[in-house]
Amino acid sequence: MEVPFWNKEIETLDRSSLEKIQLERLREAIGWSLKTPFYSKKLAQAGIGSPDDIKGLEDLRRVPFTVKDDLRRSFPKGHLSVEMTDVVRVHSSSGTTGIPTVIYYSREDLERWTDLLARCIVATGAAPRDIFQNMMTYGLFTGGLGLHYGAERVGMTVIPISGGNTKRQIQVMKDFQTTVLHITPSYLLHIHSQLQADGIDRASLSLDRALIGAEPHSENTRRKIEELLQIQAFNSYGLSELNGPGVAFECVCRQDMHVWEDAYIVEIIDPETGENVEDGQEGEVVLTNLIRQAAPILRYRTRDLAFLHTEPCACGRTHRRLSRIRGRTDDMLIIGGVNVFPSQIEEKIMKIPEVATNYQIHVDKKGALDRLIIKVEIYPKLFLGEASKLDALRQHIKEEVRSSIVINPVVELHEPGSLPVFEGKAKRVVDTRPQE
Ligand code: AMP
Ligand code: ZN
Repeated sequence: MEVPFWNKEIETLDRSSLEKIQLERLREAIGWSLKTPFYSKKLAQAGIGSPDDIKGLEDLRRVPFTVKDDLRRSFPKGHLSVEMTDVVRVHSSSGTTGIPTVIYYSREDLERWTDLLARCIVATGAAPRDIFQNMMTYGLFTGGLGLHYGAERVGMTVIPISGGNTKRQIQVMKDFQTTVLHITPSYLLHIHSQLQADGIDRASLSLDRALIGAEPHSENTRRKIEELLQIQAFNSYGLSELNGPGVAFECVCRQDMHVWEDAYIVEIIDPETGENVEDGQEGEVVLTNLIRQAAPILRYRTRDLAFLHTEPCACGRTHRRLSRIRGRTDDMLIIGGVNVFPSQIEEKIMKIPEVATNYQIHVDKKGALDRLIIKVEIYPKLFLGEASKLDALRQHIKEEVRSSIVINPVVELHEPGSLPVFEGKAKRVVDTRPQE
């Protein structure tokens, strides 16, 4: 297997050299942070008044966590470390969970971020010869512009189409013979159903890779995407507070995502106690940005749940790999007293071949009891067969889900195109239970 690199020296650095860079950059990041009203106060409380107070990487643990609400409270400029005249771009979180937060970038910040994205893109095997259709939303959301500049830096031909208008997307794929897509997994599945509905032959397209991210998805969803579209799909993880995409990305091995450890320090903590967990254990991802001056961020609690692999990757990169995100500490549902992550349901239904490309999870109350309703789209031809086959399929889906979450769901089968479609991040869960 050929392993392409953007910056082989950095990507394969031995651990101690990597940690040396981390320490230097952490001190720098502390210096930048101390220039912000928000961190100067927070760090002073922890007895950190100068970068020299950081003697080793272990001193990072003295730094208090930052949470989303801190960023909201310090809105608009409490976490800005430079003059506004030195800020060349502003982005904002899409507000996955409420009021957005704002992020500032200096020219050097954008330069460093773009370089990381070039690294991510090349790690997937994409190259200057590729035609790159960027179907992530452009705008305040970091997904569109972030990858845009990375792709230009690699030298690919970039089509900055942004999200939405599915028929046009498909036409553009044909017209320019697009080879690489950047897209959310849910929208990519929708693209497939549109291709089917329009009777478009896959052979008329030249797709060979999709960079998929911005929302949780299971390994079974990736497989489904790869099988249906006959492409390779690479998981891409990031969040605006930490620049945006490019925090962690899959390489050609497609066995979870390298976190660029010269740019980010990744920790996994127990979300209840805040303590760092043992290597390899699952917990909440905490990230420190080592490369952003204008809006530094230290020990950010992402609320995303994942673990770090302890084994090295076959590609030769030394930067550790983050697992697929299993869910967020705040997207866990409690249904009839049982803790359920939507990803557990997704994983089960997406491996069933009769299930098409869209689904929704509803939770409501029937009398005093919580009720879980799973709505799945299935292929239209199945509706033409015997009713007993549909009953058997419903039963099969029910049992698959129950085997994972111990709850007996109601399963509804729908025709393709009947459930809501999302062109950006999908909203799969509809919880109509009265708030306690
Ligand atoms: P935003 O700041 O709006 O870009 O949203 C970032 C959040 O999107 C992350 O904290 C994750 O919860 C989610 N996210 C982004 N990429 C992925 C991914 N590859 N897998 C799972 N969740 C993701
Ligand atoms: Zn690798």
